[in-house]
Amino acid sequence: MKFYSTNNSEHQVGLAEAVIKGLAPDQGLYMPIVIPQLAPKLLAKFPEMSFREIGYEVIGALFSEDLTQDQIKNLVDHTLVFDAPLVKVEDDIYSLELFHGPTLAFKDFGARFCSKLMSLLLEDSAKKVRVLVATSGDTGSAVANGFLGVEGVEVIILFPKGKVSELQEKQFTTLGQNITSIEVDGVFDDCQRMVKEAFLDAELNKNLLLTSANSINIARWIPQALYYFYAFSRLPKTSKKIVFSVPSGNFGNLAAGILAQRMGLPIDHFVAATNLNKVVPEFLAGSEFKSMASIQTVSNSMDVGNPSNFPRLLALYGGNEGMLKVNVDGFFYDDEKTIEAIQKVKKQGYILDPHGAVGYLGLLDFRSKNPGYLGVFLETAHPGKFRDVVEKALGAKVVLPERLSRFLKGEKKVIPMGKGFGEFKAYLAGLDH
Ligand SMILES: *Cc1c(COP(=O)(O)O)cnc(C)c1O
Repeated sequence: MKFYSTNNSEHQVGLAEAVIKGLAPDQGLYMPIVIPQLAPKLLAKFPEMSFREIGYEVIGALFSEDLTQDQIKNLVDHTLVFDAPLVKVEDDIYSLELFHGPTLAFKDFGARFCSKLMSLLLEDSAKKVRVLVATSGDTGSAVANGFLGVEGVEVIILFPKGKVSELQEKQFTTLGQNITSIEVDGVFDDCQRMVKEAFLDAELNKNLLLTSANSINIARWIPQALYYFYAFSRLPKTSKKIVFSVPSGNFGNLAAGILAQRMGLPIDHFVAATNLNKVVPEFLAGSEFKSMASIQTVSNSMDVGNPSNFPRLLALYGGNEGMLKVNVDGFFYDDEKTIEAIQKVKKQGYILDPHGAVGYLGLLDFRSKNPGYLGVFLETAHPGKFRDVVEKALGAKVVLPERLSRFLKGEKKVIPMGKGFGEFKAYLAGLDH
């Protein structure tokens, strides 16, 4: 499979280059030149197949030119070591729980796939690889834990000082080994910009092998399509149309759902649900796409003012804005609405995290305008991961799973840094290569 840049469809590279580079030299995002189709006959068998078996088919369709059957099996088995159960919350409303991995957020899927694929592709490389990651919280923990102890790879995480919860921070700042954390005196967008500048800096890239593991990287992005296929196959048999509501920040997760749809999965509609960082919902409602400074909210993993996967949403519909707008509705919610949703759904016996709550609200609003749909919202994190918010909303304790409370005992180690690129560049230039 070749991958093209969303900024120039003539620029095409192979799988290894797309994964190691992360971002195209013209700053475009890589996209598969062909979107393979899964035959309806094959899709009809998915309800009887396991998550992993579904994974072999989907990943095989995309990567069978580049990887052996064994490698594909390895990759999928390494990624899918936890389930993604579909839980009924109300009539015709299901929560797709994506938080059963090691760091209790959906990013564990992409991070595990990414680390395994990179190590497969880099087996013969003599150079040490540096994975640079900007995080507003969950990416850092998922990537750090996905790559922990992987030989030949060092992970450098940039996160905004004071803008990430203690628990999130501890999941990457306490690990040590091949994981380094840089605490940036700025906001998430500063971290993202610093990482982008490093990738584009010719001098640095002469000596260092730098790569990304943000959702811009196809190795993080593509595996997220797997759980859409799986969830769809586990829905009750129905003649109703299916809608998926995706709580979104950088829009990698939603773009992966659209990829699944474009590969033949009969999802009828998507909801792009956000907090007050509402650039995409406003675009979908008819405004121009205009990035903004990010706003801090209770669903902080979605506090993104300039969503990096936006070009992918368009590319998936062949650049046709109208088609994107027909397929995807946008909704946004403030913190008050988010908290109210957590309180309301708790009375029905289910605990939402603040991100899932935004997805749930988007689904309700879509269904009230479009009755008769069966809906799934993505529950992207365990409520215990955002327990300050959830406990305050509910006035009750949220039980922290053991694998999460373990992190709290570790000691935080960071390198403090300003938000200018110069200091970061000097740091990177000083690393051995
Ligand atoms: C990263 C994240 C999101 C947003 O996902 P995108 O792919 O960036 O849109 C939503 N919820 C949680 C819990 C996250 O960690």
